[in-house]
Amino acid sequence: MKECDDNRKRRRPMLRIERSVWNDMIGYCRSALPDEACGVLLGESGDETSTIRHWRPIPNRASLRDRAFAFDPAAWIRVWYEADAAGRVPLGIFHSHPGAPAVPSPEDAAGNGSGLPTYWIVSFVPQGGCDVRAYTLAESSNEAARYAVSPFRIV
Ligand SMILES: [Zn+2]
Repeated sequence: MKECDDNRKRRRPMLRIERSVWNDMIGYCRSALPDEACGVLLGESGDETSTIRHWRPIPNRASLRDRAFAFDPAAWIRVWYEADAAGRVPLGIFHSHPGAPAVPSPEDAAGNGSGLPTYWIVSFVPQGGCDVRAYTLAESSNEAARYAVSPFRIV
């Protein structure tokens, strides 16, 4: 029985984000209002902790940018190569919700994420406020429960 429990509760590394990245990410998303903004979070990944130390904006190429985001493909590839050359691990993507809470929208849930371990949403609802949540892809066949809220620390 114990083995089953251990399997189910497979430990994820503790997630940390540097305060400068946190501030820059929110500032960038705010500067893009009323459109959604998006980008990539990078850093170091270990067994015990994953720490986000860098970020890169990616232009939003969605046709309806106030309610959706789509990475500019060339910029996305460039960030990937840059990260590899610098020895930085892409740890997640972020995007903003100018007028919706920080929960994955049906479109977000329908997408298959980015293949990266974390998925961050910066919400500016209610007006003037800011709510940021990190998610990880949950292992579930239930579409609605695919993203699980992930605790994190600002360091
Ligand atoms: Zn979204």
